[in-house]
Amino acid sequence: MKALLSLLSGKCPKCRSGNVFTHKFYNLLSFDKMNIFCPICNVKFEQETGFLWGAMYFNYALTTGFTIIVSLILYKFFNDPPLEIYAIIIIGTILLLTPLLLRFSRMLMIYLFSPYRKYRGE
Ligand SMILES: [Zn+2]
Repeated sequence: MKALLSLLSGKCPKCRSGNVFTHKFYNLLSFDKMNIFCPICNVKFEQETGFLWGAMYFNYALTTGFTIIVSLILYKFFNDPPLEIYAIIIIGTILLLTPLLLRFSRMLMIYLFSPYRKYRGE
């Protein structure tokens, strides 16, 4: 449970207190900027070059799931509006949620695939 809270709040997977990202998600110019090393325990977040490219697949899955859910909500509760309304609402909400989706995808990648445990005991 603590790991999930740390993941959602953007904390380091090892010490769970250092920030992974340097800025808040609502800073539109720098929401994707990350610390290279944890400021508390000095673990390296990007284990190897291109490690975070895997977050792209998480982002794809999250965006697809979000699109399906919003489409079902529009279909069920708004009486199947015209296709343009679907496109405008889905594209608009995805653009608004881009910082959160990107950060959550990267955090999932770091938490699920980062071999940070090898740094334990240093
Ligand atoms: Zn740390």
